[in-house]
Parts: sequence; C-alpha cells; structure tokens
Amino acid sequence: MITSATLFEQACRHIPGGVNSPVRAFKGLQRPPVFIERAQGAYLFDVEGQRYVDYVGSWGPMITGHADPDVLAAVRSRLDQGLSFGTPTAIETTMADLICDMIPSIELVRMVNSGTEATMSAIRLARGVTGRDKIVKFEGNYHGHSDSLLVKAGSGALTHGEPSSPGVPASLAEHTITLAYNDIDEVEACFEEIGSEIACIIVEPVAGNMNCIPPQPGFLETLRRVCTEYGSVLIFDEVMTGFRVAMGGAQAHYGIEPDLTCLGKIVGGGMPVGAFGGKREIMGQISPLGPVYQAGTLSGNPLAMAAGIALLTKLREPGFHDALAQRVETLCHGLQERADAAGIDMITQRAGGMFGLFFTGQSRVDNFAQATACDAETFRRFFAAMLDEGVYLAPSAYEAGFMSSAHTPEDIQWTLDAAEKAFALVRQP
Ligand code: PMP
Repeated sequence: MITSATLFEQACRHIPGGVNSPVRAFKGLQRPPVFIERAQGAYLFDVEGQRYVDYVGSWGPMITGHADPDVLAAVRSRLDQGLSFGTPTAIETTMADLICDMIPSIELVRMVNSGTEATMSAIRLARGVTGRDKIVKFEGNYHGHSDSLLVKAGSGALTHGEPSSPGVPASLAEHTITLAYNDIDEVEACFEEIGSEIACIIVEPVAGNMNCIPPQPGFLETLRRVCTEYGSVLIFDEVMTGFRVAMGGAQAHYGIEPDLTCLGKIVGGGMPVGAFGGKREIMGQISPLGPVYQAGTLSGNPLAMAAGIALLTKLREPGFHDALAQRVETLCHGLQERADAAGIDMITQRAGGMFGLFFTGQSRVDNFAQATACDAETFRRFFAAMLDEGVYLAPSAYEAGFMSSAHTPEDIQWTLDAAEKAFALVRQP
C-alpha cells in the first residue's frame, strides 16, 4: 500500500520541502504530512484509507463541507463552455453584485486569484490614493506573502521562526510599521506622531494567523477613528473572516465599516480566488478607471466564479451562521471540559465559525506575545494524538480552526471523545 511517508519522500525530490505552501509540511511536528486522496463533507480521507474529521477545511473555504454537491454542480455546468476567455463574462457581474449585496461597505469590487493578491493590491491602492508610503499592520497578523506585508507576519512565517523573510528589501520593509494587536494606546500614539504620513492600516478584524484572537472592545473602533481623523485608508483583511464570522464578515459582526475589504478563501468556493473592494471613491482609482495599476490574466475565471457564487448563495440561508457558531461553541465547551478534567492548562477562543485552542494558564490571549508564550510542546503532542485518533487539526499552534455546516453533532462528539484520549496522553510525562 502506498503511504504518506513514501509520497512525501517522492515529493521532496522536486518540490521544495515536498509542499507548495510551507505549513503543509508539518515542520517541527516530527512526522511526515498526511497525503489526502479525497474529501467529503466534514471528512478527509488519506492515501492509506484513514478518515479524519477535518477542522482545517482547506484553510477556510470549505464552510459547507468538502465536495459540496451544489458547488460541484455549478462548476460542472460551466465546464464544457471553456476554462478561460480573458474577456468580460456575465458571471463576473453576478459575483460582484453578490459580494456588494452581502458586504454593504463594498461598492466596487475587483476579483483576483488569491488573498495575497487582494491585500497587495489594496495596499497599492491605499498608497496610490493617499500619496503616502507608510502602512500600519499588527504583529502576528498575516496578509499573504507580498513584500510590504511579510514583516512580523503570523502563521507559516511564524511557525518557521521567520517573522520577516530574507528577500524583502529593507528599504521597503521600513515603510511597514508593526504595532501590537489590540493595543489601542500604541495605535493612538503612532497616529499622533506620524498619522499624516500613514497611507493605511491593514488588520485582520479577528486575528486568525496567530491562533484565534478576537478584537478587544474598542480596538477596531479606534482604528476606524484614527483613519478617519488622519485621512488614512482602513483595510479589513477579511480573507479568513469574510462570510465566516458572519455573512457580512467581521465588519458586520462588530459593526465597523472599513474603507477597503480584502476577501479570499470562501469567496472562491475552494478555487483560487481573492477579491478586494470598498468605497467607490477609492476603488474608482483602480485602472482602467484610474491611475493605480492592477491586472490578472485569469482574474474572474468563470469556473472559479461559478464555485464561489454557488457557495456564497448557500450561506445566505437564514440562520446559517448562527448554527455554525453554535457548533463552534459546543466543540469549544466540550474541549474545555475535557482539558479541565485532565488537568491540562488550555483555553479556547472563538468568533463565529472560527476558533482556537491555547495551551496556557492565562485566562485570555490578546496579542502575538501572549500567543507565542503558549506551550508549543503540549500543542505538538495534542495535535499528534488527535491525528492518530482521526481528527485533523491545523498543524500549527498559530492557525485558527474552522467549523463547517457539514460537521454533525456526532462528528463533534467523536472529536470530543478523541480529545479525551489525547488529553490523557498529553498529560503523561
Ligand atoms: N490574509 C489572511 C487573513 C489570510 O489568512 C491569508 C491566508 N491564510 C492571506 C491573506 C493570504 O491568502 P492566500 O494564501 O490565498 O494568498
């Protein structure tokens, strides 16, 4: 029988580290990554025939579960018409109308092919419209791997101990100011000093790349206030939170309206899609309407649009997000009970359809320093034990977990039973 270990060995021959995105390599977890053959609903099936209850969901897009029949049917229905034309298509307008309807702060929207492209383009636009170079981001927030944003980033960059990367010119990185997440005083002090030089703030409105850290009351409000006061653009990176934390994203959940929003993951239904959009007066500066250049050979790809539209349409069903949040709550409470019973220091944090587990004795984790102070070794052992029990958690202590509507109460109970065994194992010296 073919094993994941063999496939990983073969992959490493011609693919750097055997993977096309670093966090997939299970680096530091002392085991080879699992090679997946297929997925259905809440489950992944690996090449060895093992089933996993999946809380990664392709890193977010699979909010209604894997291989959603409606999404697949939408893609199939377009397939015979051709894969890409490089011309306008009606389905792009359907997608734009849908996004603008679901997220009212977006008046104009441009489709791209990844979250990285969305944030990179939004930053360029913010710099272009303000005529300023400096940008503000937050420590442990990840916005993709473009040069300006790969400074003190989270997730893969964090897991690998390289918060910033060689290859990012110092002359560019110096325009990126990194502040502590949830620190209102730091934001205010920064803007008092150089607010008139700042093009934009980009923020994950719920941080999902240093585990799951919701904004503290007043934090997003402060960002909105200083941006308005100093003429800076407020960019919400909702690549992860968009359509997940609530139908209208974190901005709907917390009631704060950004100037620009970046989308990815769910918006493409599992296909390579991103988007950025926002106020007409700002988006009107993008080419061909305005002078800020941005383009894409495959942007707005019809198959990708079909997948995204089919998925977004399903999320509009009344009560979808409440039910998703309820599932997350059941899972988190159950995990907490079992960790407490086993005498393991662990807390959970959550926002809508996303959650995180922190191995810490603290009662809350609000920022990067606190997230990285958690017990990485206990996480590693818990992750491995859960994997052995058939539960696929994110292979990094710095990634949020994702729930889907395909997770049944039985799947959650299965997960909690697995966790009970895993906590018992972790407790042993
Ligand atoms: N922004 C956020 C908040 C993300 O979580 C990610 C990816 N995890 C990105 C941007 C980059 O998206 P992509 O990987 O599609 O380039």
